[in-house]
Amino acid sequence: MILVTGGAGYIGSHTVKELLRAGYEVMVFDNLSTGHRELVLAREFVQGDLLNPQDLARVFSRYQIEAVLHFAAATSVPESVENPEKYYRTNVLGTLNLLSAMVKAGVKHLVFSSSAAVYGDPQKIPIPEDHPKNPKNPYGRTKWMMEQVISDYAQAYGLRFVCLRYFNAAGSDPEGEIGEWHEPETHLIPIVLEVALGKRPYLEIFGTDYETPDGAPVRDYIHVCDLARAHVLALERLLSGEELASAYNLGIGRGYSVREVLEVCRRVTGREIPAREAPRRPGDPAILVADPTRAQKDLGWRPKYTALEPIVETAWSWMLKMSQKS
Ligand code: UDP
Repeated sequence: MILVTGGAGYIGSHTVKELLRAGYEVMVFDNLSTGHRELVLAREFVQGDLLNPQDLARVFSRYQIEAVLHFAAATSVPESVENPEKYYRTNVLGTLNLLSAMVKAGVKHLVFSSSAAVYGDPQKIPIPEDHPKNPKNPYGRTKWMMEQVISDYAQAYGLRFVCLRYFNAAGSDPEGEIGEWHEPETHLIPIVLEVALGKRPYLEIFGTDYETPDGAPVRDYIHVCDLARAHVLALERLLSGEELASAYNLGIGRGYSVREVLEVCRRVTGREIPAREAPRRPGDPAILVADPTRAQKDLGWRPKYTALEPIVETAWSWMLKMSQKS
């Protein structure tokens, strides 16, 4: 049985779908604070909290867990700047509780959801895994702290692990079964699409004076199903005892500015999508683009979505479907 914490969330739910497709038995553990029960495709589901060690103890004593995929976390950069307490509790304490439970139960395999936010302002682009880590916001700091903690646990307790550093997850299941569903939404592509739907009056472009080609911040958008497949590949290799690096960047290796994202969304939706220039958002680096070579080499991972347009198409279909329901 594979334990997926945060399996009711965005990247977790898509990875559960991929795990089930690959034939794994999956147990989802989620407190549903930001996740949604409707997104859980696994039969086994426990509503529990990482901050409540008894919830974890119950799962590890009742089920034979082979490996853990740990997605459960608070994930918004701006919120982490305003409310670091929430981030250190949920992401640091929550992960420590999970690690203790794993050590107690003798569970030896872990895939950890990390982030490009561990790098901070890059010294070079694209960013390789050995780039200096200098996170710019509490969210990124929690992810980098936990990578280091996990590595110490691995040394001391014989844990085998891999940290996957996501760039900007985007898009939704092309079959329309599950998709991106945050309340409130803070991520760029769904916000732009909400403007297209008339749910918001305009997009605010956070910062137009960055040292980037058009002044707006640049990000590497990676399809959530490509992220999901990388988890399954990493898990297979961990379970088969193959040597892996401690961390892998997951991105397409190409950046798009906020203005370019807006243009692609206008093309895909055929709608006007008003936008206004706004001040920079605290904690945001100007540019984050992955060098994904290591994941390609070691995991045999090739993203299927290598351009933004088809990624936005899957996000748009899901959003239309959701808006027809509500
Ligand atoms: N962004 C923006 N307007 C919005 C939301 C986001 O201009 O309403 C920008 C944000 O400043 C960042 C990029 O879009 O440069 C991606 O932000 P998101 O929150 O989606 O992901 P992050 O890079 O923070 O993980």
